[in-house]
Amino acid sequence: MIIDGKKEATDLRANLKKKVQKLKSIYKAVPGLTVILVGEDPPSKIYVKNKEKFAKEIGMNSEVIRYPENVEEKVVLNKIKELNNNDRVSGILVQLPLPKHIDKRKVIETILPGKDVDGFHPINVGNLSSGYNNSNIPCTPLGCYLLLKTVEKDLNGKHAVVIGRSNLNGKPMTQLLLKENCTVTITHSKTKDLKAECNRADIIIAAVGRPKLVKGDWVKKNAIVIDVGINKTDSGLVGDVDFDEVSKVAKAITPVPGGVGPMTIACLLNNTVECFVKAYTK
Ligand code: NAP
Repeated sequence: MIIDGKKEATDLRANLKKKVQKLKSIYKAVPGLTVILVGEDPPSKIYVKNKEKFAKEIGMNSEVIRYPENVEEKVVLNKIKELNNNDRVSGILVQLPLPKHIDKRKVIETILPGKDVDGFHPINVGNLSSGYNNSNIPCTPLGCYLLLKTVEKDLNGKHAVVIGRSNLNGKPMTQLLLKENCTVTITHSKTKDLKAECNRADIIIAAVGRPKLVKGDWVKKNAIVIDVGINKTDSGLVGDVDFDEVSKVAKAITPVPGGVGPMTIACLLNNTVECFVKAYTK
């Protein structure tokens, strides 16, 4: 089975659109997403354009604040503080990566946890790690989780192997799987025998950034494989999983493109709507 991330993302956005209309009729206001983009990084510009397009499509307010590469850190921090106090802004996202002279940590910690739609603020990270339900969950792992759930409702006792331990993907993914009572092995570049670890997995989440790292003989028959990787190669975009090989053994697999990618943006919109609801109902 090929997990159709495009379709799942379209369905999620359609549901969110209805929710936004309902919220508008109740609160006479709609959720608002503000994205700050610094510099001219081409992939970042594409991501931000898509975020803006889909946010508008579901009826949310959407704003992009653009700064040149050499903008002073304090300008960005002051803008975040201003947005924190703006009731029309439900969610703030600062597109990463940032230029070296801007401290990513300071930026993340300046965003109010309740408006941190990326879920990177230490308060949200802590809430997720503590198993609390009120945290904003980072968009990519949330998307992976929702895709996984389309295949397997009950993850109780499954052995999941997460490849990659980034704050963006691997670590929050691990927390989501633990919450579902999976036994989780988190692996990284220093893991001794990655193939042997993967061979034991009922679920593999690959978030590495190495084209086609996971091979067919790494995967147990009927495992579910979620491929987060986006790698530009001479033959086009490929994931961290060798799709041709792994799709022959896996029970279900996400393609690249058309798997996790579309879900990430849909989950960002979902988080923005959630932030709006929490702000209006607290
Ligand atoms: P990252 O911060 O570079 O982290 C990569 C992780 O992979 C690190 O933990 C690293 O280990 C581990 N790793 C590297 N080489 C390895 C190897 N040979 N074996 C096992 N582990 C290895 O990357 P990221 O931000 O998590 O992104 C990962 C991939 O996901 C990238 O391709 C990125 O483009 C993609 N991505 C996709 C989406 C989406 O929406 N689909 C969103 C975000 C990112 P160490 O910690 O030991 O260095």
